[in-house]
Amino acid sequence: MADRLVKFMSHVDMVTISCVDSTNLVEEARRIHRMNPTPTAALGRTLTMGAIMGAMLKGENEKVTIQILGDGPLGGIVVVANNKAEVKGYVSNSMAEADLLPNGKLNVGGIIGQGSLNVIKDIGLKDPYIGNVPLQTGEIAEDFAYYYAISEQVPSAVALGVLVNKDGTVKRAGGYIIQILPDTPGEIISLIENRLSNIKSITEMLEDGMSLEEIATYVSDDLNTRVVEEIEPTFKCDCSRERMEKALMTIGKADLEELQKDEKTELECHFCDKKYLFTSEDIKNILKEATGNE
Ligand code: ZN
Repeated sequence: MADRLVKFMSHVDMVTISCVDSTNLVEEARRIHRMNPTPTAALGRTLTMGAIMGAMLKGENEKVTIQILGDGPLGGIVVVANNKAEVKGYVSNSMAEADLLPNGKLNVGGIIGQGSLNVIKDIGLKDPYIGNVPLQTGEIAEDFAYYYAISEQVPSAVALGVLVNKDGTVKRAGGYIIQILPDTPGEIISLIENRLSNIKSITEMLEDGMSLEEIATYVSDDLNTRVVEEIEPTFKCDCSRERMEKALMTIGKADLEELQKDEKTELECHFCDKKYLFTSEDIKNILKEATGNE
């Protein structure tokens, strides 16, 4: 089944919900980066949130970059998404591991440690919007709820989950965000808070065979929850040889001269691990172009 991301409104359009089944795209990320289970969960949760935040962008050329920087063995996470919910991302250390939590769950907070969550939204203005909050738990969903409350002043409930098979492949991945518009009556907020206080995890709901429509209706506790929009989120990298050449042009003359001494230079895209090969001749041409105006 293809991944789905569906946006909903409930409680007479005072509450918005985005709900996503990201199983395939998280498995694709695991396969590309050959990650251990806990990094798979860490990146998978962040990619799922990236798909949700990307889909909230209005314009086609807008993008959102999420950076999680921690002092744990994982190092950092980078995820970039656009408004078609195309996401890409990587972790610094795909082999990081930590003991399971007492409840048997993967210890995502344990490999992330303490640090910060940065959100950079490039919406075509001269300066991007940048939000930055300290990590609360490193479990990612709580960190994004905190980010929305502090940085965007939108009360939000966030759930993100990745369930990994015994062989390390991804069994289920998904998430949702519930956001309350200003002036929402207290009774509606209490209703949702009550519902969320004792609820299965998103991956358990998906495992039970609940559709995104059923999940959105359940978590918002409103039978009149309606679909607003649906898109298919995907793992997609937009790297190209031209982009790699452009990046090479910015590293400086001395470094390019150094690279030119090697017969071959292999560059790898962090986001999709695709390799690009440059010969000494290629580097010479790039050097010529980079220094052409001197
Ligand atoms: Zn790439």
